[in-house]
Amino acid sequence: MSEVHTTTGTGTTGSSGTGDRLPWRARVLTIYPNMFPGMLGQALSGRALEDGLWSLESVDIRDFASDKHRSVDDQPFGGGPGMVMRADVLADAIDATHPVPNDAPLIYLSPRGEPLNQSRAREIADGPGVTLICGRFEGIDERVLEARDVEELSVGDYVLSGGEPAAQIVLDTCVRLLPGVMGKQESLAEESFEDGLLEYPHYTRPREFEGRAVPDVLLSGDHDRIRKWRRQQAEVITRERRADLWAKRRATARSE
Ligand code: SAH
Repeated sequence: MSEVHTTTGTGTTGSSGTGDRLPWRARVLTIYPNMFPGMLGQALSGRALEDGLWSLESVDIRDFASDKHRSVDDQPFGGGPGMVMRADVLADAIDATHPVPNDAPLIYLSPRGEPLNQSRAREIADGPGVTLICGRFEGIDERVLEARDVEELSVGDYVLSGGEPAAQIVLDTCVRLLPGVMGKQESLAEESFEDGLLEYPHYTRPREFEGRAVPDVLLSGDHDRIRKWRRQQAEVITRERRADLWAKRRATARSE
C-alpha cells in the first residue's frame, strides 16, 4: 500500500513566529523518495523544516503501480529510445497526493517548461505550498499532463537525469523566501534578481588580500555613498553580464 514519507520538525508552528499561518506544504512525487529531504534537510531549509515553517512529504510513485514488479514505465508508442512513465500510475499517485480543488500549484519538472525565475519562486512561496512531479527515463506520458492540468517548470536549458535535483532547486528557492526562514528580511530585498539587477560585489576581512584592497568607499562610513556605489556596481555587472535582464529592466522603467 502507499506509504508517505513525511519530514517535519519537532518544533510547533505556534512557537515559530508564524502566528496562525499553516506551514508551507511541499509534496514530491518520485521513484526515489529516499533522495528527500537530501540537502534540504541541512542548513537554512533543514532548520526551517525542524522548526515547522514548512513540511515535506515524499511519495513513492511505485506504490501506485498495479503489477508485482511495481513498474512505473513502459516502451514509447511510435518507437524510439528509452522508457516513458505511465499516465495511469502517475495519475493515481497525483490523485492520492494532491486533492482538488487545491491552491497549491501542481508542477512537473521538465526541460520543456517555463524557466524558473525569482518572481515565479516568490509566487509559489506566497501560496500554501506546491506539489512537484519528478520525471525519470525519457519523461512522462503527455496525457497525464493534460488530464490533471499540470504546469511544466524548467530549472534551465540543460538535461538532468531526473526531476529530483530540479525539485530540490525549486524547494530551496521557495523555502528561503518563507517568512521567518531567513534572519534578516532586508538581505532578501537586495539580492540578485529582486530588483531586476544582479547583486553588487561583497567584501569582508582581511582589508588587504594578496595585494588587493577593499574599495575605499566601503570603509568610508558614508552610507549614502555606499548605497549609490553598490547600485552603480549592480548596474554595471548586469549590463555587462546579462543583456537580457538589462533590456527588460529598461523596458519596465520606460513603461512606468
Ligand atoms: N527526454 C527529455 C529529458 C528527460 S530527462 C527531453 O528531452 O526533454 C528525465 C527527467 O529529468 C525529466 O522527466 C524531468 O523531470 C527531469 N529534468 C531534466 N532536465 C530538467 C530541467 N532542465 N528542468 C527540470 N527538470 C528536468
